[in-house]
This record gives sequence, structure tokens and C-alpha cells, in this order.
Amino acid sequence: MPAKSVNDIVALCKRRGFIFTGSEIYGGLGGAYDYGPYGVEMMKNIRNAWWNAMVYSRNDIEGLDAALISNRLMWKYSGHESSFSDPLVECKKCGARMRQDKMRDQTKCDNCGSTDITEPRAYQLMMGLSIGATADGAINAYLRPETATTTYVNFKNVLDACPHKLPFGICQIGKAFRNEISPRGFVFRMREFEQAEMQYFVNPQDDEKYFEMWKKTRLDWWTNVLGIPADKLRFKPHDKLAHYAKAAVDIEYEFPDGFDEVEGIHNRQDFDLGSHTKSQSDFKINANVLKNSDSTTKLSYSDAQTGENFIPYVIETAMGVNRAMLAVMLSAYTDEQLPDGKSRIVLKLKPALAPVKAAVIPLARNVPELLTTAENIENDLRKLGIGRIELENSGNIGKNYRRHDEIGTPVCITVDHQTLEDGTITMRHRDTMAQERVAIADVPRRVLEIING
Ligand code: ATP
Repeated sequence: MPAKSVNDIVALCKRRGFIFTGSEIYGGLGGAYDYGPYGVEMMKNIRNAWWNAMVYSRNDIEGLDAALISNRLMWKYSGHESSFSDPLVECKKCGARMRQDKMRDQTKCDNCGSTDITEPRAYQLMMGLSIGATADGAINAYLRPETATTTYVNFKNVLDACPHKLPFGICQIGKAFRNEISPRGFVFRMREFEQAEMQYFVNPQDDEKYFEMWKKTRLDWWTNVLGIPADKLRFKPHDKLAHYAKAAVDIEYEFPDGFDEVEGIHNRQDFDLGSHTKSQSDFKINANVLKNSDSTTKLSYSDAQTGENFIPYVIETAMGVNRAMLAVMLSAYTDEQLPDGKSRIVLKLKPALAPVKAAVIPLARNVPELLTTAENIENDLRKLGIGRIELENSGNIGKNYRRHDEIGTPVCITVDHQTLEDGTITMRHRDTMAQERVAIADVPRRVLEIING
């Protein structure tokens, strides 16, 4: 049985140390979560899987890690300062504040059902900062609401340092901050979250081809790398395009209460480089951009063959890492009836995404030979550099298996009395619960095979 609701995942995350409410002992803070010992491992594994696909498996994408705090002018010319907002309405009866476009029924309060609701007003989503010793409290900088803009303004830096012909991309993984009106759905909508975004710079005449290529490439990644079944994913074209977009589609995952966005793929034309470039009038900019009198750098591309100097188009892929982890956990979560009438909860994660790669378990607690043998196996596995390896020494094998099923550990290695006689251990496989005897010397190789799938 799959997860009935996100609450199943919330409970598991708290119980097993994946995700905690932020500032919990002081009553929490809406839209902020803390990732615990297994949550950090899983987030790291998802980031690595994305970076492997975007950077290490290709020769046309560079990495970047830009600052989270940024000059206000950047957000003026990107258009965020004037128009990065959501429509806020307030219920005059109960005072609830809601994001109008996400209400169940826009004529009725989500909280009390009253129809006495204010007209929508634009609510700024960026979090302003007042930084520096001379600050008088006025906003002079922002926390970034996305990674994308901080990539565009580094276009020339990256291209000068690492020359590329079009098409090429720059990608980033990092935090973004939005003052969301109503954070909801656990880590689905947060005020501090993490994005993995890639900006692919193309010749304007090739934009449609690369938009289609990235749609396919990204959807394949969700199924092949994250292991999400294809029938749980779909493309949803945007009903209304943002002013800068020529085309936009979301990848949606089927959450327990319906399909919702996990990644966006956008054809942003020349809006971004055109907005931030110096000497805009030197170029034929197609998108409607704000006149820029502050930029110090031309963000154009010179084609060595044609001699043409122009503003490339951008195809963007923008994924939420927290939403990806939530979707992976939901689709891996299995509440399973066992033949003996008992049940177990198991996270059937791809081994590469599992927070713990292998657990080594001495069958009894107070037998020094068992512990020493288990520690030696643990050390051999650590040397593989595949991630977190755990040694369990509680002597309660049933409890240990339950715990590792719930956190998705692909394989448990049990050291028992037979181990001391013949040098073999029991290898228990998470999904099938099948057990086999394996010689200690073969354990690292077998674990590597399992992790590399
Ligand atoms: P939404 O329509 O859900 O507000 P968006 O279209 O504004 O999202 P983008 O700006 O395209 O989102 O951001 C790219 C990705 O970042 C989204 O697909 C999502 O996975 C993630 N994301 C956006 N906002 C949040 C948030 N508040 N909390 C968690 N993840 C988010």
C-alpha cells in the first residue's frame, strides 16, 4: 500500500530523523524546516544525482554557486522588485489570508467558507534585507528568490573563464527564499527552500529544438534516476505564460491529493540577458525589458564564424530539491503486509538515494568476537567511500531490520555465530527480505554492486 497522505511521510520523517519542524522547541516557524541526519544524506544524494547528470555526464554545462544575498539593482532589472508577487486576499469574517490562485474556490474563504473576501492585492514575495554598518533599516539588498538571476549576471564571467560555443549551460544548486503567503504541504511550499536550476544558452533560431530536448531529458531523469514511475508524472503546459516566456511546461508529480508542480521548463527568450546587459540598444532584444542604465557589462555572445554579436535565448530547467525528495519518499513509501500477518513500512528507494548504504549488525550484543568482526566489516565498507555505513549494536535484530526498512537501507549485513565458524555473514535485501550467506571477503564487492544498481 502506498502512502495514504503526506502525513505518513511527515510522521516517518520526524520518527526516523529526516525532517524536523524549524525552530520546533519555540513553536516552529511557518515554512521553515530542519533536515536531520537522514534528511541531509538524502538531499545530498539527490543533489549529487542531479549534478552528475547535468555537469559530470556532459561537456556543455558549467557549475556555479552564487551568493544568497544580492544587490538590489539585480532584482530591479530582473523585474522581481516590481512584479514578483502573488495575489493576496483576506477573509473579512475570520481574517484568514490566502493566495487567491491557490484557493479551493476563489469566491469562498478556505478557512471558514465566508464569501466576504477582499479584492486581491499584489503581495511581494522577496525577503528584503538591511545590511551593512550604515543600514538605517531600509531595504538595500534581497535574499534571492531563485538561483536563475544570479546565474544570468555571471554569464560573462563564466564564458570568459570557460569558453564555450552555443549551446551551453550554467547550473546551480542552492537556497532560495520566498515570503509565501501560505506555506503548506509539509516541504512542498516553504519560505526557505532549495532549487537545482540550469540555464541553457542557445542561438535564438534553435530555441524550440532545445526546449523539447530538455523536456525529454528532465522527465527521463525523474524516472530513471529518481525512480519515480512514469505514470506518476506528467507534463502540464502553463495556461498563462509569464510576460518573458515563449513556452513553459511543468513536470507534475501525482501527490496523494493530486498532481502538482515539481519542476518547470521554460523558454525565456532573451529576456534575462537582455534585461541585465549594458548597451541594450546595441542589440535586437525581442523580449520586453526594462531600460537598464546601471549594468556595467555586455551579456552578449560573439559567434566566431558569422562575426555576429547577439543576446542568446535561455531555456531553463528549474527543480525544487525539497519537492523532489518529498516525491521520491512518497513514491518509495510502502506499507506492506507480510505472510506472517505482520506488516512493515519500507522505503523502496533507489540505492544511490538511500541515506544509509549498508548496516552491519552483530546478532548479539555482548559477544566481543561478533562485535569485532562487525567493526572490521564496517571499516571495510567505509573505505569504499559510498556514503553512510551504520553499525547497530543493540542486539535486537528485528528492531534493527524495521528501522533500516523505514529509512530505506538497501542491505543489512548480520554477523552471527556461524560467521565465527565459516567466515560468512547473512546479507538481507531490503525489498525482497531475501537472505543469503556471503563470504566476508566478498561483502564490499557485493555492496558496491547493489549500490551502483
Ligand atoms: P509555484 O507555482 O508552486 O509557486 P513556481 O512556478 O513559482 O512554483 P519556480 O519559480 O518555477 O516555481 O521554481 C522552480 C521550482 O522550485 C518549482 O518547480 C518547485 O519545485 C520549487 N519551488 C518553488 N517555490 C517553492 C517553495 N515555496 N517551496 C518549495 N519548493 C519551491
